[in-house]
Amino acid sequence: MSKVHNFSAGPCILPQEVMQQASEALINFNDLNLSLIEISHRSKDFVAVMEEAIDLVKELLEVPEGYSVLFLQGGASLGFYMSAINLMKAGGSGAYVNTGSWSTKAIKEAKKLGGVQVLGSSEDKNFTYIPKGYTVPSEVDFLHLTSNNTIYGTQFKAFPESPVPVICDMSSDIFSRKVNVADFGMIYAGAQKNMGPAGTTVYIVKDELLGHTGRDIPSMLDLAIHRGKDSMFNTPPVFAVYVSMLTLRWLKGQGGVGAIEQQNQAKADLLYSEVDRNPLFKGTAAIEDRSNMNATFVLTNEDLAETFNQLVASANISGIKGHRSVGGFRASMYNALPLDSVQVLVDVMKHLEQQFG
Ligand SMILES: *Cc1c(COP(=O)(O)O)cnc(C)c1O
Repeated sequence: MSKVHNFSAGPCILPQEVMQQASEALINFNDLNLSLIEISHRSKDFVAVMEEAIDLVKELLEVPEGYSVLFLQGGASLGFYMSAINLMKAGGSGAYVNTGSWSTKAIKEAKKLGGVQVLGSSEDKNFTYIPKGYTVPSEVDFLHLTSNNTIYGTQFKAFPESPVPVICDMSSDIFSRKVNVADFGMIYAGAQKNMGPAGTTVYIVKDELLGHTGRDIPSMLDLAIHRGKDSMFNTPPVFAVYVSMLTLRWLKGQGGVGAIEQQNQAKADLLYSEVDRNPLFKGTAAIEDRSNMNATFVLTNEDLAETFNQLVASANISGIKGHRSVGGFRASMYNALPLDSVQVLVDVMKHLEQQFG
């Protein structure tokens, strides 16, 4: 089999060795002669998996004392509502920065619970930049941000000062760069962008923030209940948690988040310098806000689209079609994507220029 260069935006590429280990555990887990997915989640073998996954999150992100790490279900899309219902007081409100489709959905869910102030929005320019220059009010219960905008290819390079706890949807850049967890009241992230298969969502939450809303929160949405049961209030998504744990082990073996951040920077620099140099391509996001995870770009001459797509296909490059709301191309360069794959894409872009530039 020839190698595919997988630039998928999500679910996305995971390390080959993780796939290998995960497939072995599906047949025979820990030499039990049973599959990982046919044993009790309360068995010591699986409890050890959950504990290791949580410990690896804490270690890799240097999570301070006073925070809990949970592996739950529902995707980041449930996180929109769940983050708000756990931190927005009854009769309270939240502040949001609207940086794209995912933020827009988070705002929509929060409005079902109370007041929403949108402090800044880049919708006027199809979310091609990160709004700045607003002041976060102190009378709201929290500020909600989306750190990386998977669809539009923008990313917060610095987070705003906030007098209230910050909730951050980090679905598409968690573990890709160092963050100071103490700056956040809650971080949540669907696994399938940079951590594992779809099916689990990680929550990192500051304990002291829970339990003060005055709401009767449904049990399955109540982070305090899940915390009290160590993410085992009900049957956890065992396979997704296991593969996430393997990916985090792999990440630790790569040297951790600081080391992967350097590799991610090198990949992004390689691709963006070609996008900027090559007259046949143009980036769609504001340069200062460009995402190191999802690079969005278009052809300057649309007539070359078919030829470019053919070159891309014959180089075994997969998954660079842009999201329908942006068009053009999107190259997602998550942790497991090797620099080699980016070089192959850059070579195809150069090749197009040699033929038609
Ligand atoms: C993909 C994505 C989501 C939605 O995740 P689901 O797990 O499909 O619900 C939310 N936020 C961001 C930033 C994403 O990239």
